[in-house]
Amino acid sequence: MLAAIRSAALVGIDAYAVTVEVDAAPGLPQFAIVGLPAGAVKESRERVGAALTNGGFTLPPRRITVNLAPADIRKEGTGFDLPIALGILVSTGQLPAACLDGLMAVGELGLDGTLRAVRGALPVAMLAKRMRQRSLIVPPANIAEAGLVGGVALSAPLALQALVNELRGGALRETLPPPRLTIPEDVDDLSDVAGQETAKRALEIAAAGGHNALLTGPPGAGKTMLARRLPGILPALSEREALEVTAVHSVAGTLPSGCALVRRGPFRAPHHTISDAGLIGGGNPPRPGEVSLAHHGVLFLDEVLEFRRHVLEALRQPLEDGRVVIARAAHSVSFPARVLLVGAMNPCPCGYAWDANRTCVCAAGDITRYRARLSGPLIDRIDLRVEVRAVAVGSLAAARGTERSRDVRQRVDAARLIQRARYKALAHVACNGRAPGRWLDARGGLADDGHRLLVKAAEHGALTARGYHRTLRVARTIADLDADPKIRAPHIAEALRFRLGAAAGPETEAPHLVSA
Ligand SMILES: [Zn+2]
Repeated sequence: MLAAIRSAALVGIDAYAVTVEVDAAPGLPQFAIVGLPAGAVKESRERVGAALTNGGFTLPPRRITVNLAPADIRKEGTGFDLPIALGILVSTGQLPAACLDGLMAVGELGLDGTLRAVRGALPVAMLAKRMRQRSLIVPPANIAEAGLVGGVALSAPLALQALVNELRGGALRETLPPPRLTIPEDVDDLSDVAGQETAKRALEIAAAGGHNALLTGPPGAGKTMLARRLPGILPALSEREALEVTAVHSVAGTLPSGCALVRRGPFRAPHHTISDAGLIGGGNPPRPGEVSLAHHGVLFLDEVLEFRRHVLEALRQPLEDGRVVIARAAHSVSFPARVLLVGAMNPCPCGYAWDANRTCVCAAGDITRYRARLSGPLIDRIDLRVEVRAVAVGSLAAARGTERSRDVRQRVDAARLIQRARYKALAHVACNGRAPGRWLDARGGLADDGHRLLVKAAEHGALTARGYHRTLRVARTIADLDADPKIRAPHIAEALRFRLGAAAGPETEAPHLVSA
C-alpha cells in the first residue's frame, strides 16, 4: 500500500515542501530511495532500518520504494529519516494512514530510534506555518529554534516509539517551546573608545547610510575595537530581518546556544587565511559563508591586504547584489549577504608610518606598492576611508565619557526613517548606500553649491565615475543626519574628505579640493 507524509527540503535558507511517498509491494526484499537524494539521504536506509527493528517494529520482506517529490529539487541532509520511517510503518500496515493527515515531519533517527537534531529547523517551521500544517514534528534539540516562528503547533518526541504510540492513540502531544529569548544587547559600547572622533563619525555615517568603510592605522590604534562597535549603532533588525538572519545561522548550524532570535546585526571577523568557500559559501551541500553569516550585520576584514586576491575578488558580486549564488551542476543555491563591509589595514608594510612614537622603516616605493594592493575589486566599493591614529596616552583619561552607542543609534534610526520614506517606491533600496546613482542625480536633492564642488572634484580627476556617485551617496547620508533635504557643499566636502582621505588608493589625493 502507498503512504505519503509531508516533509521539507532546504534550498539555500528556504525550505520547500517535499512529499515522502512510500510503497511496500510484494516482491524481492529491497529498499530504494529515489527523487534526487544526496549521499546522506541514501544512507537513510541503514538508519531507518535499524531504528525500526530496534524500536520493536517489523521491516517486512517487501520491495520498499521511497520517492521524494518533487524529484527536481536535490534533497540533502538527514531530516528525511523520520518521515521515511513513518511512511514505511503506514505502508506496511503498522500505523493507520489517517494518523499522518496534516502533519509535517523532519528528523534524523539514531539506530535506537531516538530523534536527533537537523539543520534548518527554523525555515522548516516557517514553511509549516505558511502551509497551515496541523502539527510539525521536530527533534527535541530543534524545538527552541522551531518555536521562534510561532503560530504552528509543534511536537518534539524523544524517539520514534513514543511518537508512534501517540499517533496510534490519536493524541499527538504538543510540545511547548521554551520562552522566546533575545540575545542581550551588545556590551561593546562606543563610549569605551577614547578619542577617535573622526573614526566614530565615519562609523555613524556608515551605519546611517549603509556604506562600506576602510580603517587605516598603525597596530594598536584601535581599528578592531572601533569596528566591533559598529553593530551596536546599526538599526535594530525588524521581525522579518531577524528571522532571516536567524534562518541563515539555523541552516549553517551556527545558532548561538539557547537558540535566541538574532536581534542585532551579527559581527563576523574571518581570519585572512580563509578560503573563498569559507568567505562566500560553498561545499556540498552548499553552506553559507562568512559573508552570509554577517547578513544584516558587519563583515570585518582585519589586515585586509593579507587576504588572498581571488578571495577578495569573490566578494565583489555579493557586495553588489546583496546575495551569494552558488552554482552546482544540477541547480544553484542562493544565500542572502547584505553586509556592511569594514576593512582594516596598516598604513605601510611595517605598520608605523603615522605613529608619533615609532619610526617607519619602509621605503616610499614600498608604501606605494603596499597601498596599491587594495586597488581593484574592493576599493571602489568603499565609500569611507578613515585614518585611525594612536591616541596619545596622556589624553586617554580626558577623552573618556563621550557619547554612548544608544545615543548615536537614535540619530542613525532617524536618518534611516528619512531614507525609507525617500526610497519607498524603489524595490530593494532601503538606504543611501544602495541608491541608484542616476536616481540620486535626478532626485537626491543636490543643491547648487554642492553640485559645483562635486563637479570640481571630478574635473580635477579626483573622482572616478563610480567614485562620483559613491561620494554623492555618502553626502546624502550626511545631509540626512542633519535632517537637511538638500545636499549642500559642506555635506559634499565631508564626503570627499572620507573618500579621498587616508590611504587613498588609486584615486589621487586632492586635499585642495576639499577645503570648502
Ligand atoms: Zn612603515
